[in-house]
Amino acid sequence: MKSTPAPVSRRQFLGQLSAAAAALALTPRWTRAADAPVPAKKLGVALVGLGSYSTYQLGPALRKTRHCRLTGVVTGDRAKGHRWARDYGFSEKNIFGYDTMAQIAGNPDIDVVYVVTPNGLHAEHSIAAARAGKHVICEKPMANTAAECDAIIAACRSAGVQLMIGYRLHFEPHHLELARIGREQEFGPFLRMKGANGFRMGSEGPEDHSWRLNKKLSGGGPIMDMGVYVIQAVCMAKGEAAPVAVTAKFDPIERPELFREVEESMHWTMEYADGAVANCHASYAENLSYFRAEAARGWAEIEHFDYSGQKLTTSKGPRKFPAVNHQLVQLDGMAECLLTGRPSPVPGEMGRRDVAVIDAVFASARAGGARVEVKA
Ligand code: NAD
Repeated sequence: MKSTPAPVSRRQFLGQLSAAAAALALTPRWTRAADAPVPAKKLGVALVGLGSYSTYQLGPALRKTRHCRLTGVVTGDRAKGHRWARDYGFSEKNIFGYDTMAQIAGNPDIDVVYVVTPNGLHAEHSIAAARAGKHVICEKPMANTAAECDAIIAACRSAGVQLMIGYRLHFEPHHLELARIGREQEFGPFLRMKGANGFRMGSEGPEDHSWRLNKKLSGGGPIMDMGVYVIQAVCMAKGEAAPVAVTAKFDPIERPELFREVEESMHWTMEYADGAVANCHASYAENLSYFRAEAARGWAEIEHFDYSGQKLTTSKGPRKFPAVNHQLVQLDGMAECLLTGRPSPVPGEMGRRDVAVIDAVFASARAGGARVEVKA
């Protein structure tokens, strides 16, 4: 199953990203998985971290996927691992601890390791998975810093395994249409964009967000968790190109008792080589979720970044697409890439691009809003 990616520099990769995206877009991604020939075997996926996203989204989706299934877990809680093995029908031999991930090597049931732990642990767990010789899916944001992303990319390259980022919206039809409009410049190049994503932390019930408030585990505040979707939307609208520079500021903290280590809310701008500018906002203080892009001959607006209920409206009217289970189409789309050798639409370099934007955003905000170039 392992295929060795050809060595490609980051610059070459970023240059090729738009072309690869165009080729992949020839057939819509959410129908391709259904049309693909059924592979001889489903890929086995092991989830690392059995928290909220694994429990309520990824696990249930893996019961329905055509090209992959859950065959193992990595958890700090062995009893929980046994419950998952019973529920999902995999062998108890396939329950691992974070400190025993090396033993995944040689396990024939596991082809792919999906890292769903706090952001600050993504590098450690992705590198352990690569060293065990398994393909890696790493949740967003890819890591706390671009330097950590580089270490993950290097580990996957030297192990000869594929690396993908858990960017579900790159498999969601309304977002794919937004990307197509941007790439094909249906209204001309998008020049003015604005987007926001956030939720009021503490208002959604008993969910434990303590690691999101811990700088070491989260890498930062809402830009890491929510703002990364706005960065993805901007890059999609610009044909997956990286911005050249950013400016940013932290907003005043309303609840200092919660936000001791990370910011509660921030604004930033992304500036492109063609003069396009995106005004962006990420928040743990407000419920927000939208993106709008304007060009000389029209505009497109997307609501929203959540797990369902997307709407795409353009200056020519609404564009309707089927509702999909985001995690199901993402997992099957990724498995299909691994099974067929097709390039992934969400490679590690894309995750690294977005973390490089975040690095520049934090550098700008710390420098009082100075313009900072993005080292993509
Ligand atoms: P969570 O807190 O519910 O789960 C985190 C898991 O990591 C838990 O099982 C916890 O036990 C484990 N863990 C291991 N070491 C830990 C440590 N030192 N401290 C704290 N927890 C530790 O979080 P979540 O919402 O499931 O998020 C996990 C990852 O998934 C994050 O990177 C997040 O950004 C990402 N995520 C992505 C999406 C998406 O739509 N793609 C949605 C939600 C979360």
